Amino acid sequence: MKIVTALGARPQFIKASVVSAEFARHPQVQEVVVHTGQHFDANMSDVFFAELGMAPPAYNLDIHGGTHGAMTGRMLEGIERVLLQEEPDAVLIYGDTNSTLAGALAAAKLHIPVAHVEAGLRSFNMRMPEEVNRILADRISTWLFAPTDEAVAHLQREGMDAQRIHQVGDVMYDVALHHGQRTAAREDGALKRLELEKGGYILATVHRAENTDVPERLDAIMQALAHVGAEIPVVLPLHPRTRGVLEAQGDLQALAQQIRFVDPLGYLDMVELEQAAALVATDSGGVQKEAFFHKVPCVTLRDETEWTELVAAGWNHLTPPTGKKAIISAMRAALGSQGKVVQPYGTGDAASRIVRCLRSLT
Ligand code: UDP
Repeated sequence: MKIVTALGARPQFIKASVVSAEFARHPQVQEVVVHTGQHFDANMSDVFFAELGMAPPAYNLDIHGGTHGAMTGRMLEGIERVLLQEEPDAVLIYGDTNSTLAGALAAAKLHIPVAHVEAGLRSFNMRMPEEVNRILADRISTWLFAPTDEAVAHLQREGMDAQRIHQVGDVMYDVALHHGQRTAAREDGALKRLELEKGGYILATVHRAENTDVPERLDAIMQALAHVGAEIPVVLPLHPRTRGVLEAQGDLQALAQQIRFVDPLGYLDMVELEQAAALVATDSGGVQKEAFFHKVPCVTLRDETEWTELVAAGWNHLTPPTGKKAIISAMRAALGSQGKVVQPYGTGDAASRIVRCLRSLT
């Protein structure tokens, strides 16, 4: 049985690490990984393959930049070429990026069944490119691997056939369990390198287009982080998109007086900083959940979240970044808070359930 995995963005490398490791335990399954090139900097791509024990991708299409349409179109063409050559039994895609949509579309048009990991997530905000990508990918996937009960409910409400839906849990939880403990044994981790005290800083990430591409929102976030940064260190591994915008606006240097900007971190460094943070402030989907895995409160800088169970349990404080003051008060209120004990993301065996399912159905 041959599976082509199409991926291209940082969170997809991280999610794929546990599923690819599981495939490797099944000699009957051959996995061929196609990297679209969507994320290409060493610290946005290569570091994850190296750190998480993944083989280098069999194909790298080296496609990045340009508009959404141009990028997705070129990916569609590139992935189709690989699929015609490899003739796989199924195509595996992750999440909600342009690489996800291109992989799904290329496969569906060739009548190759598609398996979607992280199916059923919804923000109900169609202005998000991620929402468009995930809805379309779900619609044309054969296997919908949903991480949560809520994701299952969304798929059911949209009329998806029950046989296609598999609640397997969240692969990010598998990754956290599998690699999360590795931070303890490291001697030169980010905490030490950045001279941070356990529990003595806030970890922030900002990269969603809805924040980076709207100057008032980005400004509200950065001003709030800078304000709080005068009281407690704020560390912000800077996504290339956000760096680009801040540099273009000429704001980076002034903000750097109060916010500790660092380059994007490898997964182990990132997890180490999450584990020891007093608070996480983020617009990332993955980082929201990782904060919860490590029992750290999280302020989510968005209008909505796909991970509503964490809001309900009191771990995640959803804060639309419409003004500096509201963000500052949300961060102050969340510091030191704890949510309820819940386990919405399964038991850490999502990868093996996915592989078992794919093996039994093709
Ligand atoms: N991450 C990382 N280094 C960083 C920032 C994030 O390794 O500097 C990891 C983070 O731990 C999580 C994933 O990247 O596992 C989240 O990816 P991202 O925020 O880019 O995308 P999203 O989850 O919002 O789709």
